[in-house]
Amino acid sequence: MKVVWMYHDIMDLYGDKGNMMVLKKRCLDRGIPFELDTCGIGEEKDLSEYDLIFLGGGADKEQISLIPDLLSRKENIKKAIDEKTFVLLICGGYQLFGQYYIAANNEKISGLQFYDYYTDTGKAGSRCIGNVVIDANLDGLKTRIVGFENHGGQTLNVTHPLGKVVKGCGNSFNAGYEGFYDGKILGTYLHGPLLPKNPEVADFVISKALQKRNPNFKYSDLKPLEDKFEKMAREAVFKKLEI
Ligand code: GLN
Repeated sequence: MKVVWMYHDIMDLYGDKGNMMVLKKRCLDRGIPFELDTCGIGEEKDLSEYDLIFLGGGADKEQISLIPDLLSRKENIKKAIDEKTFVLLICGGYQLFGQYYIAANNEKISGLQFYDYYTDTGKAGSRCIGNVVIDANLDGLKTRIVGFENHGGQTLNVTHPLGKVVKGCGNSFNAGYEGFYDGKILGTYLHGPLLPKNPEVADFVISKALQKRNPNFKYSDLKPLEDKFEKMAREAVFKKLEI
């Protein structure tokens, strides 16, 4: 599995790097070769050569600094998605695949505009912060996802939410729904990082990425792993949140 982590040096809030470590470990434990590449501002790279594109979260300052480079790659990213490269986006990265993002200082940043959703700024100084639990259905895989959110941005007009909020805010204050998933990209506000406490989501992402080169690959083809610590970590969150 070949993964490219975009803007690894600036888009890595709240341990988003952990997502890469989890994908690597879960692949290697099953004998699936894993290659992690990075792509910084100005670096020449054909993103369509990868099975998975990952973009983590970041502060407004970082989002503003990378956007000219990201927009210059629009055609290449579109080609990658058309050729079945799967895309995993966290928070600040998720926002930049929509129409636009209005930062806390009211600066409007254009997004890649692949989707209709857009991100407005909330009321001055108000942010969605705290633990989040959502119920998602990933191509028939029903899973409860846990994580942590910290965003000022309020994402609206989300046509394909990832899941229904059980605890926390999600796409915006009182949104009721969290994230975006349309079979091609999975965007979410969940840090934590996302994948260590959500092994089903990690395996789902692996299976989607492997489908690029093997369209018949199924989630159930992945050998089950023990996930003892992952389950303990999840239980601890559920207990704390009394759910
Ligand atoms: N800067 C964005 C916001 O505040 C994204 C933050 C993040 O990635 N956690 O909404």
